[in-house]
Amino acid sequence: MTSLPTLFDVYRAQRTIRSLIVNTPLISSPDLAESTGARSVHLKLECLQNTGAFKVRGAANKILNLTEEEKKKGVITFSTGNHGRAVAYVAGKTEIRAVVCLSEHVADYRAEAIRKLGAEVSIKGKSQDEAEENYRRLMAERDLVPVVPFDDPMIIAGQGTIALEILSEIPDVDILMIQLSGGGLLAGIAMAAKSINPGIHVVGLSLTQSPAMIESLKAGRPVPVKEKDSIADSLLGGIGADNRYTLALVDRFVDEHLKIGEEEIKDAMFTVFLRHRLVVEGAAAVGVAALEKRMMDVSGKKVVALLSGSSIDPGQYVRILERRLGARRGRN
Ligand SMILES: *Cc1c(COP(=O)(O)O)cnc(C)c1O
Repeated sequence: MTSLPTLFDVYRAQRTIRSLIVNTPLISSPDLAESTGARSVHLKLECLQNTGAFKVRGAANKILNLTEEEKKKGVITFSTGNHGRAVAYVAGKTEIRAVVCLSEHVADYRAEAIRKLGAEVSIKGKSQDEAEENYRRLMAERDLVPVVPFDDPMIIAGQGTIALEILSEIPDVDILMIQLSGGGLLAGIAMAAKSINPGIHVVGLSLTQSPAMIESLKAGRPVPVKEKDSIADSLLGGIGADNRYTLALVDRFVDEHLKIGEEEIKDAMFTVFLRHRLVVEGAAAVGVAALEKRMMDVSGKKVVALLSGSSIDPGQYVRILERRLGARRGRN
């Protein structure tokens, strides 16, 4: 299949994955609406999704659409964590063998979460690229079926189901603010939303220090990025040298791109806790960061920002909160 996924594929995905996902809440954030001048701001809580992130949508759509023969062989993937966990979860529920390849860079608690779901974890390499090499070798050696993290029509269509849920609750939404790394999430949501209403303004949110897709869009081809640490580790990594789908879809359907910095993200994680008592990982908070720091004009608009996941090291999370609570106390 080389053609790009369409809205029809997203509707089909919605039926396919229904039993493995939850229709996550869409809550209003009156404080953010007031501070930005927006007509309304809503947060879509994929941080409450099964496995702690939206990735289960794409993984479920991909795995449930495999042939019986492919299901018997088992699946393999590489991931910074949330995709690996999603694949392990879906494979566990459907009794399919799964191998998840991680780099040494990935936090221990993430590897442990994947093992707990019954998947085999293979940790090798200093970078995401080296983890990918290990993945290719094991795939060939053991004849496993690949489930890639983002550049696959089934994955993209699965993530796109988020747009259907948002539009069923707020059909006249003006602006969607969605995180962007490999682009499966943004490609699916942007394609589905714009196919339903071309007037919706779709904003992609990348990391200032690792804007792989933005660089690739400028170059007109996939550009590799140097790996750095980030509080939003789920947004690290490139778009793949042989990218076939997400670059084209993001280019076609996304209206605006913003880059978010580390301190802005941490501030937004604190805001999400303070205003909504929700725990989110760094990647999830970029939309709130963009709104809070007034990076774009949303006055009079109905805005939805996605909180994409909750996978964060508890110690790291508590330190972020403590520093900001201390700063607030200092001011009082
Ligand atoms: C994977 C992920 C993203 C980015 O999704 P892409 O499809 O790679 O662009 C954003 N947030 C979280 C929590 C993720 O796990």
